[in-house]
Amino acid sequence: KVAPPAPVLQQSYARALPELSVPWRADAPPRPEIVWLNEPLAAELGFDAAWLRGEDGLALLTGQIDGTTAQAYAGHQFGSPNPQLGDGRAVLLGDLVDTRGRHRDLHLKGSGRTPFARGGDGKAPLGPMLREAVLGEWLHATGVPTSRALAVLSTGEQIAPRQGVTAEPGALLVRVAASHLRVGTFEYATWHLDEEVRRRLVEFTIRRHHPSADGPLGLLEAVTRTQAELVARWMLLGFVHGVMNTDNMALSGQGIDYGPCAVLDVHRRDAVFSSIDRGARYAYGKQPGIALWNLSRFAETLLPLLDEADPNVAVEQATAVLEQYEGWYQQAWTRQMARKLGISGDVEGVSALGQELLVLLEEQQVDHTGFFRALGEGRAAELVAGDSFAQWARRWEARRSATPAEMACVNPLYIPRNVRLEAALRSAHLGDLGPVRELLAAVSAPFTRRAGLEHLEGPGDGGENFLTFCGT
Ligand code: AMP
Ligand code: MG
Ligand code: MG
Repeated sequence: KVAPPAPVLQQSYARALPELSVPWRADAPPRPEIVWLNEPLAAELGFDAAWLRGEDGLALLTGQIDGTTAQAYAGHQFGSPNPQLGDGRAVLLGDLVDTRGRHRDLHLKGSGRTPFARGGDGKAPLGPMLREAVLGEWLHATGVPTSRALAVLSTGEQIAPRQGVTAEPGALLVRVAASHLRVGTFEYATWHLDEEVRRRLVEFTIRRHHPSADGPLGLLEAVTRTQAELVARWMLLGFVHGVMNTDNMALSGQGIDYGPCAVLDVHRRDAVFSSIDRGARYAYGKQPGIALWNLSRFAETLLPLLDEADPNVAVEQATAVLEQYEGWYQQAWTRQMARKLGISGDVEGVSALGQELLVLLEEQQVDHTGFFRALGEGRAAELVAGDSFAQWARRWEARRSATPAEMACVNPLYIPRNVRLEAALRSAHLGDLGPVRELLAAVSAPFTRRAGLEHLEGPGDGGENFLTFCGT
C-alpha cells in the first residue's frame, strides 16, 4: 500500500465555531519560492517533501486552497483590552491528525490583509519569518512545547520597509501548532458572542487539548498547569517571549507567535529585547507573573459558565485554581532546574540551590544558557568567580549524580544568540541564505557538538543593547 503524498486538511475549527472566523483566501504571491522546508516536520505531518516542493504542494503552502479562514480574536495588549484583533495578516489553512495521532493546525502568516487587518499591509518580511522558524526549532529541540515552522517562503514581492528605508523581500511562514486557540479567542467570545457559542468553545478546547478536563473549571486548571510548565521551561532556557499579550497565549500549552523574542546572554531579570516594550512589562523576570495575569483574564471569561447560582462562588472557585499556579510553577521550575544541574531523585533543596546560583549569575553578569553547559563540562569556574561560587559549587557537587555526557543532553550548546541570529537574518535579507540555514541546522540538534560549528558556540557579544523589532 502506497501512502498518499499529503494528508487531507480538515476545517474542524471553522465547522465547530463558524462565529469565530470568516472564510478567507490568502493573496496569491507573484513568485513564491521555498526558502526553507522543514523536512522532518513534513514527514511527521504525513507530507511527502517532494510533493510539497511541487506544484500542488506550493499551492497548499501559499494558501491557494479551498476552505481557509481568518480567525477572530480579541486580547489584552500590554495590559489594555482590545476587543477586535484577529488574524490580520494570516489564514488558518486547516488541521490534520499527524502520523502519531496528534491534532495539528496549519497556519499561514504574511499572506495579505484580511477583514481583521487594521493599519497594516498584511505582509511579512523575510527576516522575522525566519526568526520565528529558528526560535521554534530551537525550543522544540530543547523540549519546550512550541509551534514550529513547516516552511518559510519568499513571495517575490518587495514590501514597504518596517524599519529603515529600503523595501524588504516579502515572505510567508507556514506554522504548525496544536491549535491557534488563545486566551484572546475566549475574550472575543465573551465580549461579542452569546453563551451558547462560549460553551461550544469550551467543549472544543477541552476535546482538542485537555480531554480529561471536567467543564470550564477543569479547563482553567488544565490551562493553568500547562502554562506554569511552559513558562518554567522558558525561564530555564533564558527565553524571553517579548509580547505575552493574551492574544499570543495559546490554550494548548505551546508557545506561539515569536515576534520580538530573544534568548538571554547575561542573566538579567530585567532584560527586555523588544523595541515596543518600553515599560518592560514583558521583561525576562516578569514572565511567570504575566502568565498568571493572562490566566486571570482567561478565568474571567469562564466565570459566567461556571453554573453557580451565586457569582461569588464562581469567583471563589476560579480563584482557588489560580492560587495554585505559583506552586505548580515552582514545582515545574525545580524539576527542570534539577535536570539542568544533573541532580536526580529527591529535589529537596534544589530550589534554593538554583535560586542562589541565579543570584550569582546576575551579580557577576554571567551568560545564562552557556553557564549550564559549562557546568556540565567542568568549565564553570571560568565564568563565575569568588568564594561564594566555590561554596555553591561544593554543595552542587555533593548533589550531582549525572555524568557530563548526561548533562550535555539537557543543556544546549548551540543557542540562537541574538547577535548571531540577527547577522544571519541580515545575510538572508541580502540574498545569502547560508548562515541562517546553518543556524537552523545547529539549533535543531543543539546538544551535540559538531566540527565546523565552533563559531556558533559561546556567548553572543554585544547582546546587552540588542533590540528586536516587532515582526510586523
Ligand atoms: P502580533 O503582535 O504579531 O501578535 O499581532 C497583533 C495583531 O496585529 C494581530 O491581530 C495581527 O494579525 C495584527 N497585525 C500584525 N501585523 C500586521 C500587518 N502587517 N498587517 C495587518 N495586521 C497585522
Ligand atoms: Mg499575535
Ligand atoms: Mg505576530
